[in-house]
Amino acid sequence: MTQNALWYETEKCFIAGTWRPTLANETLAVENPSTGEEICRIARGRGADINAAVAAAQAARDGDWGALPAFERGRLLSNMGRIVLEHVDALATIEAADVGKPLKQARADALALARYLEFYGGAADKVMGETIPYLDGYTVYTLREPHGVTGHIVPWNYPMQIIGRSVGAALAMGNACVLKPAEEACLTALAFAEMASEAGLPAGAINVVPGLGEEAGATLSAHPGIQHLSFTGSVATGQMIQSAAAQNVIPVTLELGGKSPQVVFDDADLDAALPFLVNAGIQNAGQTCSASSRILVQRGAYQKVCEMMAERYRSLIVGPALADHDIGPLISARQKEIVSGFVNAADPARILARAKLADDLPTGGHYFAPVLYGGVDPDDPLAQAEIFGPVQAIIPFETEAEAIAIANGTAYGLVASVWSRDGGRQMRLARALHAGQIFLNNYGAGGGVELPFGGVGKSGHGREKGFEALYGFSVLKTVAARHG
Ligand code: NAD
Repeated sequence: MTQNALWYETEKCFIAGTWRPTLANETLAVENPSTGEEICRIARGRGADINAAVAAAQAARDGDWGALPAFERGRLLSNMGRIVLEHVDALATIEAADVGKPLKQARADALALARYLEFYGGAADKVMGETIPYLDGYTVYTLREPHGVTGHIVPWNYPMQIIGRSVGAALAMGNACVLKPAEEACLTALAFAEMASEAGLPAGAINVVPGLGEEAGATLSAHPGIQHLSFTGSVATGQMIQSAAAQNVIPVTLELGGKSPQVVFDDADLDAALPFLVNAGIQNAGQTCSASSRILVQRGAYQKVCEMMAERYRSLIVGPALADHDIGPLISARQKEIVSGFVNAADPARILARAKLADDLPTGGHYFAPVLYGGVDPDDPLAQAEIFGPVQAIIPFETEAEAIAIANGTAYGLVASVWSRDGGRQMRLARALHAGQIFLNNYGAGGGVELPFGGVGKSGHGREKGFEALYGFSVLKTVAARHG
């Protein structure tokens, strides 16, 4: 990708509807994970830039943006959705170069961003309060109001999807947003700002300040001028964010990843399961919060599942994002070091299969061949830690009770799936498994813009996606009128 492919400013922040350099006029390099080369530079926003963005958001809330009726907000978001659709190919190319994801995945992410904007555009004027039967002589009703200014700190793995689900829902409710994208992947967040401007969103409704987590991110999460924080990323950073938010006593939504299991019983349709078992582990090179890194298999199907998954692994090719292989590189040298660390520490005798690296890979890329392990003990780090790379562990079990205990036996609880033809078993496990989303005979349900999403335990709290997110991005007010 050339610099010309970027049709908007990359070295600036988007504040109060204009592109401006950071106050200190500093920038950071953007690396292409497929080649290690610098693509362009982005702004290195600091506290003063965040302050300016929060002030611009507050002015928008107090001004044009706050005054818009809900259906007008919805119409603007729908306009944005249409503009995203017109730019799908450009956005996919930019995201592939910035994040290293194969083009087809990057394209799917751009389409998902459009869907979020369409969904929340359509929902903006459909969030209603209630009337509550109360004492004689009273009328009581509830109002759903925006928080005010909302902060959004997003990671590098799915920038477009996470911006769509978080900023899209917050805007639909009338909040004004300050977005701090991840330093590793800012380019589509900046495109989002440009498309918001083109769609006609009033100045200050959306502000984007790229920068480092410990600088721009830390200032945003502790800022007294914001009334809600939405964060997706690591547990350690999520804990800091929640502590910072506690000082201002504001609500936070935390989405912190997981160690999500797929539980395969002897009676499962293994041919139907196979693509889900593998794809859910290797999609986006395993750098997915809802990646399925644990495959629990009942003894009777165990050998067969190991063989089927191993065969599929041996057919996978890892290569440059723009060449659109099955799997792209990891995001950074640091991420490759983390993932390799888990593999180096694990028992090599348990490796069932590895994917192949394409020939003639660029030397500066962060390529890592996916690894499939079998016979993994439920307490092994491979079965406990969020590796955030393309590494899956197959764990055998005997009984339904044992499967539930193993599936629930990590600190996380984001997603889980059950593969079985037994309806009663499906229902029992749907209740027994600790996770925010349960899939029966599928995994991921095609992305699920409409489906509430979020975790329990160290996977976080709060729900994004679907209509439910609109409740999280609003405050309920109760009005009690005494009229005699
Ligand atoms: P991270 O949690 O450090 O970064 C996520 C976002 O938080 C980025 O925008 C970053 O700039 C910001 N941030 C970092 N430090 C901050 C601070 N002190 N205050 C405010 N904001 C801050 O994640 P990472 O370093 O990019 O990745 C590390 C690990 O996190 C990965 O290996 C993976 O396990 C996990 N992760 C999870 C997800 C997910 O979707 N759940 C996404 C990315 C990373």
